[in-house]
Parts: sequence; C-alpha cells; structure tokens
Amino acid sequence: MTFKSLGLSDALLKAISKKGYETPSAIQQKAIPLILERKDVLASAQTGSGKTAGFALPLLQILNSEPAYRKRPVRALILTPTRELAAQVQDEFREYSEYTDLRSTVVFGGVGANPQIRALRNGVDILVATPGRLLDLENQNALSLSKVEILVLDEADRMLDMGFLRDIKKILALLPSKRQNLLFSATFSKEIKKLANEFLHNPVLVEATPENTTVEKIDQTVYRVDKAQKTDLIIKLISEGNWKQVLVFTRTKHGANRLSEKLEKAKITSAAIHGNKSQGARTRALSGFKEGKVRVLVATDIAARGLDIPLLPHVINFELPNISEDYVHRIGRTGRAGASGEAISLVSLDEVGYLKDIEKLIGERFQTKTLSGFEPTETMAEVKEAEAEKKRQKAQRHSRGRNSQSKKTSQNKGKSNGRNRGRR
Ligand code: AMP
Repeated sequence: MTFKSLGLSDALLKAISKKGYETPSAIQQKAIPLILERKDVLASAQTGSGKTAGFALPLLQILNSEPAYRKRPVRALILTPTRELAAQVQDEFREYSEYTDLRSTVVFGGVGANPQIRALRNGVDILVATPGRLLDLENQNALSLSKVEILVLDEADRMLDMGFLRDIKKILALLPSKRQNLLFSATFSKEIKKLANEFLHNPVLVEATPENTTVEKIDQTVYRVDKAQKTDLIIKLISEGNWKQVLVFTRTKHGANRLSEKLEKAKITSAAIHGNKSQGARTRALSGFKEGKVRVLVATDIAARGLDIPLLPHVINFELPNISEDYVHRIGRTGRAGASGEAISLVSLDEVGYLKDIEKLIGERFQTKTLSGFEPTETMAEVKEAEAEKKRQKAQRHSRGRNSQSKKTSQNKGKSNGRNRGRR
C-alpha cells in the first residue's frame, strides 16, 4: 500500500516524501481512509505507531479541500495531555502542511501567553493545545472555537490519567455540535469507553499494532544486579557500548537527578527530565538529546509521556516501574518505525516481584543475566534491613522537619503575639 493509494493529495504526498516515509504504517492505512470519509474514529494506537500522521494527514486534506474563511477561524482542534506532545504534534502539522496554504499553531501552559495570543489573532486553521491553557485563552476571548469542524483527542488515556476530564468536558461544550471527532488512545479503559460513548457519533473502531507486536520487535535484556551497583553497571554499559543516545527511566524525580549527576561525573553528558523541571529546562534537555549533545536523558514515566524521539536505539530501565503497563510504554520508545531496538532492565532483588508482574502482562519469561564483576550478592534479609533503615531515616527526617516546623510556628506565634500586643 502507498500513501497515494490512500487518496492523499499531491501537496501532502510531496511533504510525506520529504519526511522520507515510504509506506503508511498500520494505523495510517486504517485510519486515513475513514477520516477522509468524515467518520468518527476511535483508534487504539501508541506513540511510535505513526498515529500523529494518521490523523494529521487526512485532517489537512479535508481542510485544504474546503474553501477557506477570510479570517481563518480555528477549524481543527487537537488536544494533547502534555506540552511536549503538543509541540511535537504541531511540528508534524507544520511539516506536512508545507505545500498547502494551511496554518497551524500550538498553545500550552508554563510559558507566556502573549505570543500565543498574537499567533491566534493572525488566524490559524489548526490549533494544537493542552486543555488548561486552551480554556484560559478562551476565557480571555483570545480565540473562538465556534467554527471547529474536527476535534482530535490525542493520548486520551493520558489526559484522563492526568485529571483533564473536567477540562475536556468544558471544551466540548464550547464546540459546535456538528463536527467530526477522533479519539486516539493507547489503552481502552472503562473511562475511555465512557468518554467515547459520550461524544463520538457511531465511531469506527480502529486497532493497529497490538501492544505485543511492539514488544516483539525489541530485544529485551534483564540484568540482575545489586541496587548499590546499578550506577556503576549503567556507566559501564554506556561507555563500553559507546552508546550515543540512551533514554534511562527512573522511578522518582530525585532518582533521575541523582543518576544524571553521577553520569555527568563519569563524563557521560546527561540531563534529567521530570515534572519538577521548568518548561524551558525540559525543552533544552530534549533538544540537546535530539541533537546529540546530551548522550543520556534520564526521565520519569510521567515526563517521558508523549516525548517524540524517533529511532531510539537504547532504553534502560534503571529501576522497573511498579505499574507493569509502564514497562510496555517505556520500551516502546525503542524499535520504532520498523528499526530494531534494545531495552535493558537493571533489576535488584527488591524488584523481582515487579519483574514477575511484567512477565505476566506481556506473556513472556525473561532469561535474566549477570555481568562479570556485578554478580548480585545481596540477600532478602539485607534488602529488608536496607528498606527498614530507609524508613527509619525518612521517619527521622519527617520528625525533625515537624519539630523545626513546630518551633518555627511557635516562634511565629510569639512574634505575632508580640506584634499584636504592640498594636494593641
Ligand atoms: P508517532 O506515533 O506519531 O509519534 O510517530 C512516531 C515516529 O514515526 C515519528 O517520528 C514519525 O515521524 C515517524 N513516522 C510516522 N509515520 C511514518 C511512516 N509511515 N514511515 C516512517 N516513519 C513514520
């Protein structure tokens, strides 16, 4: 099958060939003709499946074939859960629309609103947005959604996970009732089905790349190693393998920072990306990584959602996720668009239970390996003792924090009493 046989126009075919795509991916083959027929579509597709082009191309074709309004009101609205994803989706729109007369822009929170307001004033056909900022701008009358013909909810499951249901409902209420709706989601939970029932009209269900197909393309290796030796092991793997672009997952934000600092000390350029980092820091880290200035990007699961980093050769789980589905999302970052990839997990004794859960989910048993010099020696008793010690330290910190807090409070009380007395 070719892009041409899907009925796409020459202007889009030219942009597709400039991007270097040769054949449409499974989701594109299924979704593009249905969207061109103006059907509502409920699509199961993950990042890496080519889903963005799956909705962007037919959407551009539809808009381009209609007579344009003079003032360019927003005719297509794409909602995404994260700023990064919003920016990436709009990048793709810009590239695919290069040979058309259509304009797109993106709005998201965490950055100044004025440039976004100016861009909207100039008129755009396609708006990519995160829900919160979109509602803010609508409240300020910076845009009107009354001419929206096509709505896309991208990564709808993530949007619900992140608590955007109310915002989505508010946005739906601002749109004309006659419109085409497209919902893309990696998973179909009860909540997603409920949302789909509420706003899609006779949707066609499109399923492509079932999760285990993604997993099959990826070489998965599990190293059993002591917790205390993980950092040295990861440094050895990256240096000796001379890996240039590695995405590493940790469970916590602090863990991401700590590991990134240690890698830097070992002369491996690295950046951490997580929810506590400012938008600017995240964008810088991601572009440094894409340009090859940063060899290792250390990310938490939430921060990694929606990141578009094509053809990533290596993904390392520094720690296993405690939610098994996250494992599939994480390793889905490698082996994209037909290229093979490698996912490595460093598993300490306390994580063996998580490993079993993941095996159950993906229906596969891992052959665990050890590396010479990194053979695990810790025992369950030691793991339990280390965990207990950690809890003790945490409790101590907590109670120290409380004591100093209560000292401060009583000092403040003293002060305010003094002030009050003085005033009186
Ligand atoms: P997505 O799932 O939309 O995040 O896309 C994943 C990556 O695949 C992006 O970097 C796209 O540029 C790329 N891509 C999308 N469609 C194709 C295609 N038909 N052939 C090759 N690469 C593609």
